[in-house]
Amino acid sequence: MTVVNAYAAPSEAAPLERTLIERRPLGPHDVRIDIAYAGICHSDIHTVRGDWGSQYYPLAPGHEIAGTVAEIGEAVTRHAVGDRVGVGCMVNSCGQCRNCLRGEEQFCTEGVVFTYGSPDRDGTVTQGGYSEQVVVTESFVVRIPDALALDVAAPLLCAGITTYSPLRHRKVGPGTRVAVVGLGGLGHMGVQFARALGAEVTVLSQTLGKQDDGLRLGADHYRATSDPATFTELRGSFDVILNTVSAVIDLDAYLALLDAGAAMVCVGAPGEPLEVGVMSLINGNKTLAGSNIGGIRETQEMLDFCAEHGIGAEIEVIPASEINAAYERVLASDVRYRFVIDAATFSG
Ligand code: NAP
Ligand code: ZN
Repeated sequence: MTVVNAYAAPSEAAPLERTLIERRPLGPHDVRIDIAYAGICHSDIHTVRGDWGSQYYPLAPGHEIAGTVAEIGEAVTRHAVGDRVGVGCMVNSCGQCRNCLRGEEQFCTEGVVFTYGSPDRDGTVTQGGYSEQVVVTESFVVRIPDALALDVAAPLLCAGITTYSPLRHRKVGPGTRVAVVGLGGLGHMGVQFARALGAEVTVLSQTLGKQDDGLRLGADHYRATSDPATFTELRGSFDVILNTVSAVIDLDAYLALLDAGAAMVCVGAPGEPLEVGVMSLINGNKTLAGSNIGGIRETQEMLDFCAEHGIGAEIEVIPASEINAAYERVLASDVRYRFVIDAATFSG
């Protein structure tokens, strides 16, 4: 075992604090990563605060991990010491079920092992990237292209793949009219991807406060959802709506903005249920869908796409001592557009 500095929540009601966690000894297929940066995803907050149900504590979150390989097990072939690498939301799966074989490890029928708070194959509970090091089996470690700085790349491991995957799945391209609801960590990546894929992009945000940023990130249009005219004027005008909102929204109001045959994909994951009137789907043959991160192969494809198109997260780098304050700012929609923790500060 190796003991490393980390930040963890001691319970669901308590702020995160500095602690020590154990990393397993390096197995033959394992990679030890010196973490450089860890992004703060809204899912970290939902999880530690119990929005999604009870958890194991102490809980060190963090599934947007970027760093360099420090050590490799004797059978590792994909990565070498010194490589720039990333780890996202999952760290193991069976590798043999139908979903793993088609590259959707997140739906492993044997149960995927998530990066934190998840029972691992060896009976321990995983601890996430708010720490100095992590040990991960090599097939769940992806390459970070040289063109991407590690701090800018970290959020791509969750916010990036979670928005890239549904846009690709819905075949977004030139001529597709895409709306991105919520301009936070996920939303600001969704806008950049939809733009790079050639779509006509509209941001639907609570206010016009981030309009300049939205347009700079690649949106063609920016509308406030607090303005009732948005919902009358944009009726029937989108092929794909990507909902990244972390809270409950009025799905029927957004479904009315879809053209006939179009789809609204929810990636935002509030703890409470969302209601939908089935007539909102029947009238216009509309689809209400969800999407959960993306597989490992697609995550690598997304990172390569980012390098090729000059896409990255817009970040605010913080020391670990500011994690709890950053959580409050995320909850207040006051994030532009991802907090990234400098892992050198986990020890201090
Ligand atoms: P975030 O940075 O906090 O962004 C969420 C955005 O939603 C905010 O910036 C805000 O945008 C909007 N919003 C927040 N509260 C709202 C409200 N009451 N009404 C309307 N809009 C509101 O969070 P994130 O890290 O992007 O994550 C977003 C959600 O996706 C979270 O629920 C997270 O757990 C989930 N998630 C899901 C997956 C998946 O695989 N499906 C992966 C990662 C994250 P505006 O200020 O522009 O209105
Ligand atoms: Zn996430």
